[in-house]
Formats: sequence, C-alpha cells, structure tokens
Amino acid sequence: MNEDIKKVLLTQEEIVNRIQEMGKELAADYAGKELVVVVLLKGAAWFATDLTRAIDLPMRVEFMVASSYGNGTSTSGNVKVKLDISENITGKHVLLIDDIIDSGITFAAISDMLRQHKPASLKTVALCDKAERRVNGLDADYVGFKIPDEFVVGYGLDYAGDYRNLPYIGILKPSVYARK
Ligand code: 5GP
Ligand code: MG
Repeated sequence: MNEDIKKVLLTQEEIVNRIQEMGKELAADYAGKELVVVVLLKGAAWFATDLTRAIDLPMRVEFMVASSYGNGTSTSGNVKVKLDISENITGKHVLLIDDIIDSGITFAAISDMLRQHKPASLKTVALCDKAERRVNGLDADYVGFKIPDEFVVGYGLDYAGDYRNLPYIGILKPSVYARK
C-alpha cells in the first residue's frame, strides 16, 4: 500500500500522541457525567478504539453506519442511516466521533438525528479537520489535526474501500484515482 501514497501527512506516532492528549482533555471535560460515545462506522472505528481507551472514564459505546460518500471523494449531502444506535441516549452526554470533518454535512445531519433523542449534551470530535472545505459553518468541538484540502487515506480513512488499515494518514498518488 505504501507505494500508492504520495506523502505521509501524519505519522503513526503523531496520531497516537495526539490521541492521548485528546483523551486526557475529554476525560477532564466529561468527569462525573454519564457519557455515551457514538462512533460513525466504518471510518471512525480506528480512531475511536484508540480514543476511547485514552479516556479514563466509564462510558457506553454505540455505533452508527451512515452513508454519504459512496465511492467518490466528496459528500453527497444526502446522509442516510444504515445502522442506528441501539441504546437510549436521552439525558446522557453524547460525544459523536468521526474520522474527519470536511463539508460538515455528516456531523450536521447525524447531530440533528441524535438531538431528537434529547441528550443532555451533544458534542463532536474528529481526528482530522479540513476546515477550508466547510459549507455550513459547523465546527467540531474537538479536533485532532487541522489538515489541508487534500484527499487523505489511512487510519480508518478509505479510498473506494481500501487503505483503511494503513497505520498513518497520507495523500494518495493521483495515479491511483486514474486506476479505479
Ligand atoms: P463531510 O460530511 O464533513 O463532508 O465528510 C465527512 C465524511 O467524509 C467522513 O466521514 C469521511 O468518510 C469522508 N471524507 C471527507 N474527507 C475525506 C478524505 O480526505 N478522505 C477520506 N478517505 N474520506 C473523507
Ligand atoms: Mg465517513
């Protein structure tokens, strides 16, 4: 897989270190609160397993599958839930986890759905943030790294289903897009 990567943007070490910091910050912010993290599959699974283990607090973990990207490289705007949370989050402090915030459409749509359950609070966390691409002015409450407007893969992030298991985050070579 490495030969398909033009540039490593974030090394495994940088990612792991930053997640430890984020975990400490979140543990301080959520101390004493009933915390439920909601993980957006598939991409956020890698980030979420590391992040939740870096938060030294009791918590519940829920998973959602939302479709937005298909096989392209930009969000369609039409977010559909394919797998929903399975426990009651009413009155709980909910932290929504995704791999990356780009247009902001996914976080906006899923946040609206979760708010209908009347959580005590709802915040968002993303490992990466492509802030210059935002269409709705929405910001994640916690961000691992601000990154430039490039399509990235690795650490859960895929291109057409591949590269999720790369242990770092990198920019794909343009020749890879031409191939698929
Ligand atoms: P948004 O809805 O904010 O535009 O995009 C969020 C979703 O788009 C993420 O969950 C992720 O699946 C996908 N996405 C956005 N930017 C990238 C990127 O650079 N690489 C990959 N692999 N996925 C991205
Ligand atoms: Mg995604």
